[in-house]
Amino acid sequence: MNHPRPTPPEPASSAHGPRAPLVGLDRAELAAAMVDLGEKPFRAKQLWHWIYHRGATDFAAMTDLSKDLRAKLAEHHVVGRPVIVREQTSSDRTRKWLLAFADGEKAETVFIPEEDRGAVCISSQVGCTLTCRFCHTGTQRLVRNLSAGEIVGQFMVARDSYGEWPTPTDESRMLSNIVVMGMGEPLYNFEEVAKALKIVMADDGIALGKRRITLSTSGVVPEIVRAGEELGVNLAISLHAPDDDTRTAIMPINKKYPLKELMAAVRAYPGLSNSRRVTFEYVMLKGINDTPAHARALIKLTAGLPCKFNLIPFNAWPGAIYECSDPDTIEAFAQILYNAGYTATVRTPRGRDILAACGQLKTDSERLSAREQRARAEAAWREKDGGGQLHA
Ligand code: SAH
Ligand code: SF4
Repeated sequence: MNHPRPTPPEPASSAHGPRAPLVGLDRAELAAAMVDLGEKPFRAKQLWHWIYHRGATDFAAMTDLSKDLRAKLAEHHVVGRPVIVREQTSSDRTRKWLLAFADGEKAETVFIPEEDRGAVCISSQVGCTLTCRFCHTGTQRLVRNLSAGEIVGQFMVARDSYGEWPTPTDESRMLSNIVVMGMGEPLYNFEEVAKALKIVMADDGIALGKRRITLSTSGVVPEIVRAGEELGVNLAISLHAPDDDTRTAIMPINKKYPLKELMAAVRAYPGLSNSRRVTFEYVMLKGINDTPAHARALIKLTAGLPCKFNLIPFNAWPGAIYECSDPDTIEAFAQILYNAGYTATVRTPRGRDILAACGQLKTDSERLSAREQRARAEAAWREKDGGGQLHA
């Protein structure tokens, strides 16, 4: 189902020049912005409440600020939201937004509803510098890091869409969780992702607890422990193979950070316990990583680690070189893990009809044939082989 829903952009400039967005500023920066307007820094607290607790997008609505301040804010700033280019809702109620940022770059955000709650899957980069061979995002060339404001803005757009303002109590939230599992490698954009998540967690605003946030990484070893120490959010690792040969063949980052280093970093992740386990994501690729021997090797690799497995049926995309493992193979794989005492869930693909499932996100809206997409994918892998850190 397609629901084209163009949102009128907030004009980013006025007669007085460009207007700076406020979403994405941390408290100190917001206070400094107040001082720049000739105000006392404590006004930032009121503004923060309006922006992150009430979800206000119009300064005129901020009635406990003086008229004079509201006028100055409107002259120099916008609250700041990405623009919705396209909104689609799947037959299973999964909703996907293609969002455009001030410079015209685009990224996708997905809401995955459950019965009475749900997770917003947010992107951390436009495209990805890495080239995991099963991932559609990995074929995308255009890349830049998203700013903290653009990352928080994705969640705020989702909240706008469901009218979830002001911030409800935890129990009654529909948009109850965030998974940083959209486009991009969050740990190659650590500063902005961390800044965004700190804003999301601040208790007088969006106030989402750290246990409701999961960050997924392909294994950027140096930043893993840092994420644990600075953010304390749940960790998910895109493992996808129990040995270096298989992993390197499907995830070139494994050349840079092989399994031994990756597993040492995971084992050092602060706060892991049986009630707070690391999630290993494992995409099921037919004939590549899905045999009983692979399952047994996983058990060995993760021995003694508080962890759970999330088996993801491979989501195909036009031009992909892999197929999804058969249901029986996935079941047998899960059973081996289960028999060894692990929790091993098989993820139900969501939003497949709108290409919103894991690894399908891509902003290139050109309609290309499968053959053309494959040719492009191969060219992208050659060009980006091995990936690398993006310095914005
Ligand atoms: N870059 C981060 C987060 C985004 S990807 C990471 O790699 O962890 C989110 C998850 O989707 C990852 O586990 C990724 O490996 C998986 N994924 C990518 N492409 C997929 C596909 N086509 N089918 C199923 N899962 C896929
Ligand atoms: Fe990038 Fe993650 Fe896709 Fe790999 S799986 S290409 S790290 S988005």
